[in-house]
Amino acid sequence: MPASNVNYRPETRLVHAGTLRSQFGETSEALFLTQGYVYDSAAQAERRFKNEEPGYQYSRFSNPTVAMFEARMAAFEGAEAARATATGMAAVTVALMGQLKAGDHIVAAKALFGSCRYVVEDFLPRYGIASTLVDGTDLEQWRKAVRPNTKTFFLESPTNPTLEIIDIAAVAEIAHAAGATLVVDNVFATPLFQSPFTLGADCVVYSATKHIDGQGRCLGGVVLASEKFIQDNVHNLIRQTGPSMSPFNAWVLLKGLETLSVRVHRQTDTAATVSVALVDHPKITRMIYPGRPDHPQAAIAQKQMRGGSTLVSFEIKGGKAAAFRFQDALKLVRISNNLGDAKSLITHPATTTHQRIGPAARAELGITDGLVRLSCGLEHPDDVCEDLLAALDAV
Ligand SMILES: *Cc1c(COP(=O)(O)O)cnc(C)c1O
Repeated sequence: MPASNVNYRPETRLVHAGTLRSQFGETSEALFLTQGYVYDSAAQAERRFKNEEPGYQYSRFSNPTVAMFEARMAAFEGAEAARATATGMAAVTVALMGQLKAGDHIVAAKALFGSCRYVVEDFLPRYGIASTLVDGTDLEQWRKAVRPNTKTFFLESPTNPTLEIIDIAAVAEIAHAAGATLVVDNVFATPLFQSPFTLGADCVVYSATKHIDGQGRCLGGVVLASEKFIQDNVHNLIRQTGPSMSPFNAWVLLKGLETLSVRVHRQTDTAATVSVALVDHPKITRMIYPGRPDHPQAAIAQKQMRGGSTLVSFEIKGGKAAAFRFQDALKLVRISNNLGDAKSLITHPATTTHQRIGPAARAELGITDGLVRLSCGLEHPDDVCEDLLAALDAV
């Protein structure tokens, strides 16, 4: 029996699930860098196009390497179906646009990754889809935002960059009572530490660019859901409009999945170590880490997550000038807006990822001028802590 069909534990599925071996019996997954496929006969081509015979037709919507990535992600997440996309934003856009049409309404938590917020707040309304942004941690706001034409709810948890935790099961219940679906962007939690389907989500999306690649190479995304959800909302949109993942990226990301568990556990340990090393520092005014008992939603984190986070956010006393001096004094940790990389990366959200939303929206989200977000890499945790402490001395 192929390994992917056996109910192994998640770490084992990350290494084996979905593998399709060619006639050469290769150990490592093959890279099928092909646009199209040839048929043995005209009749076979006809059968393929009529879906009467399984097989590949065109890599905009079917490719063996991409299929392996999709099957591995589906097996790992416990989803019936998955579709890979070129980027995480393509996954989010497809998951939302695929369900919505003019006249519909979407409710989303306002603490969203910058481009996700753009899609909900600016892009969907251009097509006649109304949107309401709520404080995701306030369940009453979700309830009050529901309208007769509300079709879907959208959230991420933990949120970027303040690492707020939203009660996914409670929001799913409100969505379903309203006849709406719930889409969860699970990037920050990673599939290792949070399983939104078991909490009631109808669709889960990832930017594979982050922890799934984990080494800063390829962009990618994936939409996971029931077979019906994918067929009704996602498959044809990707097939006909083409935000597809390249086989090369799928191959890199498949290899990334093999090491995901080892990397994320190590990076999470480092983030926890950093939060402890810095929390009482006189130049730190706020420490946010979902694994800590002093986190505002620690009880919900405990209930719905199996681990902390590879990210830790903290506020440096002295606002923007101090945050800039701190970042510029770092020698090992690099300044970058990316996350989930093997290299530790630091971001100043107020002037980069969250600059577009303006000071009022930032204040509402708790994104102060002193706040920085650290994505912990795979370096030795002591080297990361020493670099951060030395840079704080320089502030
Ligand atoms: C990065 C990210 C995205 C977008 O992914 P891309 O691969 O950069 O398009 C969406 N949501 C979250 C939470 C992210 O961190």
